[in-house]
Amino acid sequence: MYVETINVVKQYANHLALNGVSINVPRGTVFGLLGPNGAGKTTLIRIITRITAPDSGEVLIDGRPSRREDVYNIGYLPEERGLYRKMKVGEHAIYLAQLRGLSKADARRELMVWFQRFDIANWYNRKVEELSKGMQQKVQFISTVIHNPDLLIFDEPFSGFDPVNAEMIKNEMLRLKAEGKTIILSTHNMESVETLCDNIALINRSEVVLQGSVFDIRREH
Ligand code: ADP
Ligand code: ADP
Repeated sequence: MYVETINVVKQYANHLALNGVSINVPRGTVFGLLGPNGAGKTTLIRIITRITAPDSGEVLIDGRPSRREDVYNIGYLPEERGLYRKMKVGEHAIYLAQLRGLSKADARRELMVWFQRFDIANWYNRKVEELSKGMQQKVQFISTVIHNPDLLIFDEPFSGFDPVNAEMIKNEMLRLKAEGKTIILSTHNMESVETLCDNIALINRSEVVLQGSVFDIRREH
């Protein structure tokens, strides 16, 4: 998926959260949204995912205005994420996969692959609350990508991750990119920008103040 936002404006009651934001995310690349807390990153993500409507401006998917159906082709991991603590891990993951449009049979088949890849297959019938934080994050990651969407959006994906799990998630993102997926992530983690992102936009006070390829920006700054 090729994603563009054009002059997106979003005003909350007394706060202009986005003041004409245009970004350009080529297919099969990783795009980093950087900026301080309150800059507007999550608001932009929520507009791209159609959770929030912009006041003006547009989101284009593959060159045409985004449509309701595009939502099924997006995997979105919000910053505030939680799992129901009393549910069994496998049941929970199947439930989330079904919300994303998979049949139960497909969900089970896909989960088998992902749980093995992430080495958590033994935890399938345990309760969520028995999992470590890192394992819960793996389940959340899996639930974001399980329906094989073309666009993946992660809000602060590395916050709270220990270095080993963060590395694993990073490698998964690179593998998904190699498959042709488009990835947008917001992050404070400069190291992940260097190793993961092709392009970035730096957002400050509701506006893009810098945008370009990590290569060019590193050379010029
Ligand atoms: P970031 O993700 O960069 O931290 P956000 O997009 O979450 O920034 O928030 C941008 C600004 O908009 C912040 O000042 C925040 O307090 C405000 N804001 C976000 N959501 C709402 C909302 N639903 N109502 C009012 N203000 C909001
Ligand atoms: P139910 O069918 O009663 O909802 P569960 O959802 O608990 O049962 O899980 C049973 C299904 O989960 C079986 O189809 C089985 O193939 C699958 N399953 C069992 N263990 C795993 C695992 N480690 N990874 C993925 N799928 C598994």
